[in-house]
Amino acid sequence: MKITPLISLAISALILLASCDSPESNLVRRTQFIMGTLVEITLGEDDTAKTQQAMDLAFDEMSRLENLMSTHLPDSEISKLNQQAGKGYTLLSQDVLIVIKRALIWGHKTSGAFDISIGPVVKLWRFTDENPTVPPPAILQQAAKSVNYKNVQIDDVMVRLSKPGMALHLGAIAKGYAVDSAMAVLKNNGIQNAMINAGGDLAVIGNRALNKPWKIGLQHPRKPEQLIASFNLAEGSVATSGDYQRYFIHDKKRYHHILNPDDGKPARGLISATVITVNTMDADALATGVFVMGAEKGMQLIESLTGAEALLILESGEILLSKNLQSEPSFKLKKF
Ligand code: AMP
Ligand code: MG
Repeated sequence: MKITPLISLAISALILLASCDSPESNLVRRTQFIMGTLVEITLGEDDTAKTQQAMDLAFDEMSRLENLMSTHLPDSEISKLNQQAGKGYTLLSQDVLIVIKRALIWGHKTSGAFDISIGPVVKLWRFTDENPTVPPPAILQQAAKSVNYKNVQIDDVMVRLSKPGMALHLGAIAKGYAVDSAMAVLKNNGIQNAMINAGGDLAVIGNRALNKPWKIGLQHPRKPEQLIASFNLAEGSVATSGDYQRYFIHDKKRYHHILNPDDGKPARGLISATVITVNTMDADALATGVFVMGAEKGMQLIESLTGAEALLILESGEILLSKNLQSEPSFKLKKF
């Protein structure tokens, strides 16, 4: 079996499995670094000027959204909103409003496990730095007190963070939205067969070749060169949150970037949460939220939602599957 090059392994939890029986000559593929990750667009179409242009536009769309939502860019709308914390309202564009509104719904449905006001805590952990360290407990505790999505106020097209010191960070949902928006651009430009993989947030439409569905491979959380599961996906989205995507080891303990809003510390219990849904924004938010909720409550939430499936891997190595995933004919699972 041939596997596509694993250049994005360190940051990508999902890889596309090439089938063992078909040449892949019709696949058009390009990779670009956007939103802090390698974004790969693959088209199951002929390589023409038209398909290349559709790809250009899809990448442009993702860059446009990064410019609106990144906290690394001081002029982004989110940075401007954060600068106004505890003060007045900030006028936001439609895309940012859609993401914030959806994030607040997931905040509510996950009982606060998913919380985009996690900004002050994310800033302390500095996972994107070269040498991140464990923040002093008292400072972390203080920062966690500012985290509460209920203090995000929306008035039509304006948003206000009602307490000083608050800050939004859309890292757990914006990539998913960007994948959906880029897929919409591809469709509007005549593309019918495509996969977009943004470092583990992935969407597909159509097929990879005639009568050959897209195959999704989930990376093993502890053996990056191996897959833990694979399945076919005709149309839909998959997102994985894992403790192996951004982390450091200190005193033999793993500190990763999925944080419990209650205490600001890395959430414990799961090592990965994969969610399959109809759109990538929801898959992205849910994967993070379910990771923080843990196996029992997380799976309960997934089973209560229509059209959502999950694969959860516990710290013990135990793997939990939602009911419909267990009966999916193409689903293959390896032992941990
Ligand atoms: P993901 O890889 O989608 O799970 O997103 C993780 C990123 O989202 C982190 O790097 C943080 O910036 C942010 N984040 C961490 N914990 C949470 C949380 N509990 N709710 C929302 N965003 C979070
Ligand atoms: Mg997420």
